[in-house]
Amino acid sequence: MYTPTKFLKGLSCNLCGTEYPHGNVFTCPRCGMQGILDAQFDYDAVGEVMTTAALESRPLNQWRYMELLPVSPEVPLPHLQIGWTPVYDVPRLAREIGIRKLYLKDDGRNPTSSFKDRASSIGVLKAIEFGLDTIACASTGNAASSLAGLAAAVGLKSVIFIPDRAPEPKVTQLLIFGATVLKVHGTYEDAFDLCRAACEKFGWYNRNSGTNPYLVEGKKTAGLEIGEYFSRDRGALPDWVVVSVGDGCTVGGIGKGLQEMRQLGFIERVPRLLGVQAEGARPIVEAFHSGKDLVPSSSDTLADSIAVGTPRNWRRAIKQIRASCGEMIAVTDGEILDAMRMTARLGGIFGEPAGVAGVAGLRRAIRGGIVKPDESAIVVITGNGLKDIASAKEAAGEAFIVEPSLDELEMLLKKIQPCS
Ligand SMILES: *Cc1c(COP(=O)(O)O)cnc(C)c1O
Repeated sequence: MYTPTKFLKGLSCNLCGTEYPHGNVFTCPRCGMQGILDAQFDYDAVGEVMTTAALESRPLNQWRYMELLPVSPEVPLPHLQIGWTPVYDVPRLAREIGIRKLYLKDDGRNPTSSFKDRASSIGVLKAIEFGLDTIACASTGNAASSLAGLAAAVGLKSVIFIPDRAPEPKVTQLLIFGATVLKVHGTYEDAFDLCRAACEKFGWYNRNSGTNPYLVEGKKTAGLEIGEYFSRDRGALPDWVVVSVGDGCTVGGIGKGLQEMRQLGFIERVPRLLGVQAEGARPIVEAFHSGKDLVPSSSDTLADSIAVGTPRNWRRAIKQIRASCGEMIAVTDGEILDAMRMTARLGGIFGEPAGVAGVAGLRRAIRGGIVKPDESAIVVITGNGLKDIASAKEAAGEAFIVEPSLDELEMLLKKIQPCS
């Protein structure tokens, strides 16, 4: 057994505020499944160590913020490059969607090609810390492929529960990393419940970012990075940080990271968060605007990574978005496919549908007057486009067919570019 960082004070319930010590725990025993626990840190002590000068000499990955991560400094870190993903200034895309300044942060550049590696890496370290040799999750998407990859990197076994109708390419990514993949005859909910029961029975660690209090701390590193990046003379801190929202952990985590960077004095204000859901799966947008408790919705969108009808972490998402004076918006699948083309052609980044939903949301927010044309924004591109070729093909169109002849080629070029 290892002990976690001394900067971690404990866990606090987001509903009743009860404090709990660090441990292999999930939701609040008093409040049940709705009582998500939130890791608390000693910011005065962190501030003395994690200074601008200290960060200068640290490696360019998410572990540079070790004092703010709920892991033990004694557990060896995965050797893969996680975090400190590139930030690009993309003026042509900015002009197209009608904003003065636009940055993209490409989180598709993480080891398994999605933002989820920031959280899975914390999950595998916690499993080792608690002395467990197996980690499990129920998912067909990036959480699963990320977990399989990170478990392989640190030498843990992984068990993934998937529903009957999981897409073949994603199953292949799990299998190549050596995960034990179990197709459950039933729905995603059935797979989720079986996974939780199996973890309890067999002593596996449960990587379920909706309720696991530690994983979301990995997601906040993107917020820490944005704060640090713009504290170092790289231009003004953007007015908006735009994130796609499924379960709500990503936007909630990024919000927490930005709040921490303000508390530590790296930035003077927290940018406004714009949370983006798909029209067909927008329960958090509804709860945000109604001010009422979340009502589960359909989960009907081609952006499978944010197709969540029953999100578990919606309170954290809404709390952080409100704390930043932010907004929430929903976009159609058509707008997402448009954003996929635009982000690739004008930004040079190929994102999966959920990965570019933020670009679609920002465009709609500008048209709707929520975001002003003279403001600035950074969109987190949360996953790589090669993850979902079927959707990409819908956005991309078809190749031309030509005989191996220069004359034929010239004729074809005239046909497809008649005026040039
Ligand atoms: C998981 C995921 C999201 C949304 O994160 P939540 O924590 O579920 O809100 C967005 N984009 C991609 C690519 C994802 O895999």
